[in-house]
Amino acid sequence: MSRIIRVGLMAALTTAALAATAQAQQPAPPPYATTKVTDNVYIFRYGGHQSMFIVTPAGVIATDPIGERRPAAKTYIEEIQKITKAPIKYVIYSHSHFDHIAGGQPFKDLGAVFIAHRNAKKRIAALKPADVVMPDQVVDGKKVISLGGTTLELNYVGLNHSDSMLVMRLPKEKIIFTVDWIPIKGIQFRGMADTYVPDIEESLKKVIAMDWDKLIPGHPGPGGVQTGTKEDARNELAYLQDLSAAVKKAVDEGKSYADAQKEIKLPKYESWPNYGPFLQMNIERYYDFWNRGI
Ligand SMILES: [Zn+2]
Repeated sequence: MSRIIRVGLMAALTTAALAATAQAQQPAPPPYATTKVTDNVYIFRYGGHQSMFIVTPAGVIATDPIGERRPAAKTYIEEIQKITKAPIKYVIYSHSHFDHIAGGQPFKDLGAVFIAHRNAKKRIAALKPADVVMPDQVVDGKKVISLGGTTLELNYVGLNHSDSMLVMRLPKEKIIFTVDWIPIKGIQFRGMADTYVPDIEESLKKVIAMDWDKLIPGHPGPGGVQTGTKEDARNELAYLQDLSAAVKKAVDEGKSYADAQKEIKLPKYESWPNYGPFLQMNIERYYDFWNRGI
């Protein structure tokens, strides 16, 4: 091997080794963080959950407290108060699931008004989770909140992930916040619990037709990315449609659950990190729909 080639090879190997080391030594993200999205819109992240809040001169609109079995809401309030001393006027629940809406009592103690979809209130009243604050007001089809020059729409677009999902839209900022069903580069979570098939596809079409540029989901995407685009929503719809068609074909051909799960591959989505762990469970959800109508 000539000296020049050897030196070049050593340099390449060193670069590769350094890159690998950098990756291995990448520090874990801090337990919580607040990120500015626009002048008045922020994301509060605690662990793997995140929530949008809006700061106006007349007060703050917070959303999911994300405080199930942890003191996230206390930190959430401290983070808001580092930005503004204006009162926290509202807490709006994205949907009924406790991992997003539990732990709101510290907001209640400050006098915030809690808002959720009517079906979320019904679910909370039925299950009575100890650490979920009961909504003070409910939304049916749509509600508009105006505070300190900011307008926030609370839209109900039908059945999708739960029967109580709100799509919160800031028309001026062209931002939406909606949780657990439009992930950034992700297939659906596990077995798609509490998800209405095929209604979720119709809901997605309605969201795509709305006027917005930026999506804030309830969990960061791969690499900790905190916001998505309309392209991400379109890709999620395409994934659901492709999955549905593939599973329908397997059912039509008389394949068993196990064979459908073994044989169905959707290579377009293979690079999404949760494809490996969750595809088989997503297949099972659509198999039940096409096989039994459930
Ligand atoms: Zn959920």
